[in-house]
Amino acid sequence: MRFVCPKQGCSFEGSKHKFIYHLAKHYSALIRVFGHDEQFSVKLCSSRDIMCLLSEDNFLYLIIRKITELGWAVSVVCVRPPEVSKPELRYELSLKCDEEFHLRLETRIESTTLSDGLPEDKHFLMIPSEFCSSGGVELNVCIRKNPV
Ligand SMILES: [Zn+2]
Repeated sequence: MRFVCPKQGCSFEGSKHKFIYHLAKHYSALIRVFGHDEQFSVKLCSSRDIMCLLSEDNFLYLIIRKITELGWAVSVVCVRPPEVSKPELRYELSLKCDEEFHLRLETRIESTTLSDGLPEDKHFLMIPSEFCSSGGVELNVCIRKNPV
């Protein structure tokens, strides 16, 4: 599979590793290696829209952060052809805003080749503006493969 850059006006296309390098270099995307089914935390900050997650077994995911009027909409997609349906992938995002207000989303991961840009995901975690500090937001992430 060839990986294409989702940014409008950019014609980059290349291998997975060149693609990750491209996102890191041109869009200051952060790269993180993780294990499926393990919870870890990432820091979302106001200057970064994309974060690359590369699993130890070589699945590539993007955490996409969109700025909206209401706050930050955060979702996870898997970069693979949409017709590939196995293994089934799910993700969980959670955030403790304060002692009383906890957010949590658990849903299926959409697959995309990014050839039409960043997908308009139907599912996302909405972090209300009042909790989107410029210093960043600590988000817990877990990506499950073959969930039982
Ligand atoms: Zn690009």
